[in-house]
Amino acid sequence: MEGAIKGPCMKSCPICTHSFPNFLPLPNSYFDTFHRLNVSYSLDQFETLNVGQYSCPVCQASDRDRLYALFLKAYVQQRSGQALRVLDIAPAPRLSQFLKSLPGVQYRSADLMSPLADDKVDITQMDCYADGSFDLIVCSHVLEHVPDDAKAIRELNRILAPNGVAILMVPILLGLQQTDEDPSVTDVNERWRRFGQDDHIRMYEREDFLKRLRAGGFQVKSLNVATFGREIFRQCGITEQSVLYIGQHS
Ligand SMILES: [Zn+2]
Repeated sequence: MEGAIKGPCMKSCPICTHSFPNFLPLPNSYFDTFHRLNVSYSLDQFETLNVGQYSCPVCQASDRDRLYALFLKAYVQQRSGQALRVLDIAPAPRLSQFLKSLPGVQYRSADLMSPLADDKVDITQMDCYADGSFDLIVCSHVLEHVPDDAKAIRELNRILAPNGVAILMVPILLGLQQTDEDPSVTDVNERWRRFGQDDHIRMYEREDFLKRLRAGGFQVKSLNVATFGREIFRQCGITEQSVLYIGQHS
């Protein structure tokens, strides 16, 4: 009987493929910071963030990593073993490991600071990469740190292969009327309050983010619960308001 009750409720992680009763919530430190600084919005207002089921208890993958994995598994299957030149910008350890495991992958990572990355690169000037060098670019939670995001988006577009795809994700606060940005704000508390983290310089409003991507030469597909299915989102601990933005050449 136990199996019959447990089975349908179990969660599973598309990154490490383990199953378990539940994902782990976002660490308390976030709530403490938001509370202490009297932040005027709530963590639930972020478009793609599962506060209650944030990380995998086995591999620590976040809900957004899991969302990317759902897309990537289907994407590589479609390509049936063709070589896949991947650029992972500001690599996150668990996702990076997953990307390296994809069939046919030729993996590189880039970061302005991190010694873990293959290439030390400024995203607004990626001269070391020729036009159309990558079939898949992962640029997740990077642009909100970059003062000239328009230039960064144009560079991402330039180095993407003609039929390539780019995972283009930033924190998006639902209910925001317009993007709030100010690189001159250096006060850590003020940054937390307005931009959601101590090293962010803007908070994106959704339509404005898409507009910026289009201005940089991308056409953008929004993949959501209708794309993947409610049951898959539930199993993988992804909220129904989550959206994955995939950029391609327009
Ligand atoms: Zn996992």
